[in-house]
Amino acid sequence: MEKSNKIGIALFSGGLDSILAIKLIQRAGFHIIPLFVYTPFHSRKFPDEIRTEIASLYGKDFANSVIIHETGKEYLELVRSPEYGYGKNLNPCIDCKIFFLKIAKKYMEEYGASFVVTGEVLGQRGMSQRRDAILKIERKSGLSGKIVRPLSLVFFPETEPEKNGLLKRSDFPSIKGRERTVQIKIARDLGITSYPQPAGGCLLTDPGFSKRVKILIGEDLFDTGYIHAIKYGRLIAENGVYVVARNNNENRRLITLSRMYGIDVFVPDFKGPVTAILKGSIDEARKLSCRYTRHCEE
Ligand code: SF4
Repeated sequence: MEKSNKIGIALFSGGLDSILAIKLIQRAGFHIIPLFVYTPFHSRKFPDEIRTEIASLYGKDFANSVIIHETGKEYLELVRSPEYGYGKNLNPCIDCKIFFLKIAKKYMEEYGASFVVTGEVLGQRGMSQRRDAILKIERKSGLSGKIVRPLSLVFFPETEPEKNGLLKRSDFPSIKGRERTVQIKIARDLGITSYPQPAGGCLLTDPGFSKRVKILIGEDLFDTGYIHAIKYGRLIAENGVYVVARNNNENRRLITLSRMYGIDVFVPDFKGPVTAILKGSIDEARKLSCRYTRHCEE
């Protein structure tokens, strides 16, 4: 596709910062294609539910314009052994950001766009949002000068759209740090009234979930289906590895996962929880389903 200086790809997480970044840059006259990079660690939703959630927050038209890109084995490898290490939990944020930006770069080339937009705010969270880290991530992604951060533009070197005279940094806010008052005010001005709370999206920042993921890695069970399964029940690693549902919703989720990813499940013939078998036997799964109900006698 022929390249246009007026088209950008925006990394869109669903949160307030990324929707504001998109709206601000659209207001400056650019055509923006939002890109949602979905990993199995992203929220408790399945990929097909993401668009519905985006629609409920930002409207159907916007949701329909979002590209949803599902990551695969390469991303799991990155989580297993990140070049730049982990944050507080099993979150490999630096490697992950480089990875997401490289995906955005591919779409940028495919769609004839000339820059990438992010909702990054200088100094907002941990290590990966320090200025030196952000610039290193930019270099490593092969997008030097091509990343526009509308919320923190003034704190970074001049970008290509600015050099081309298409964008003026004085038209954008200069937000830095954890305080979100300015974002909330801009959201109000732009008519954005509903958005999710920050940092709710990635389960790799959750200490409990990180422990579960370590069990999968240690047991050589680190694949997409199993990662989804450990979101929906008690993880029991005795005589194998099992996930026992805690309620009806989890029963349904585990059955859906067995259809989607071919995970073995034990569905009891008594009133009790479904047990997914990640590694082990149907007899053991039966015992576990039995352990968590009053309606079964072993
Ligand atoms: S919080 Fe999760 S999704 Fe976000 S950069 Fe870190 S690892 Fe990636």
